[in-house]
Amino acid sequence: MPPSLRRMTEIGWLDGDWDRCLAVVAHPDDIEYGLSLAVSRWTSEGRWVGYVLATAGEAGIDGMEPEQAGALRQEEQRRAGAIVGVSTVEFLGYPDGVIEAGLALRRDLARAIRIHRPDVLVSLNPRLTWGGTTLNMADHRILGTALADAARDAGNRWIFPELVGEGHEPWAGCRWVAYAASPEPTHAVDVTGHLDAGVRSLEEHRCYIEGLGTDFDARSFLETAARGAGAPLGVELALTFEVLQL
Ligand SMILES: [Zn+2]
Repeated sequence: MPPSLRRMTEIGWLDGDWDRCLAVVAHPDDIEYGLSLAVSRWTSEGRWVGYVLATAGEAGIDGMEPEQAGALRQEEQRRAGAIVGVSTVEFLGYPDGVIEAGLALRRDLARAIRIHRPDVLVSLNPRLTWGGTTLNMADHRILGTALADAARDAGNRWIFPELVGEGHEPWAGCRWVAYAASPEPTHAVDVTGHLDAGVRSLEEHRCYIEGLGTDFDARSFLETAARGAGAPLGVELALTFEVLQL
């Protein structure tokens, strides 16, 4: 059995008794390449999910000026969220493609965590690669790592004390952060029944997908990945995560 499949048989289900989830990613569409299927399941169960995006994805469309692209992509992200039951969609205003690691980013993420008080956090793969030798993006790596650190910062009154001055009391309630699309998955969510919502959500990124100039098929992309993850777990469709306990 290949190592990736052997790992899948040891994987745990990411269920539990949490109520509030904050999804924090670098770019518009990061959530829609799979994570939104889990978001659809969670909101259908009555849980609250909110989105925080570090950038507006303004550098993502080659043939469009960043100012115009950023405004369009924010609107597409709001529509994509609405389809899977998410009405809180916030943008932190970091520059697309060149997010800097550092205290400013951790402070802004800690502020968002204190404001929304999530039980759990989800994000995108923060590792150097997607598996094999395919390089992950710097923004994903920097944002994903900073998020875990910010969850800890959010719980400590004496880290970024200016946040208390702004009225944001500490929040130490985040239990874990789960990274979608990690090459080292530890957990999975059964997303059977949520493919259609995920496809419609991804298709809301119309300008971006058209800007790619390729024949991208949202349904085929999402279904292939979710079936591949679901098969070794004995379910029709699944999404895998690497979980860090906080
Ligand atoms: Zn991205």
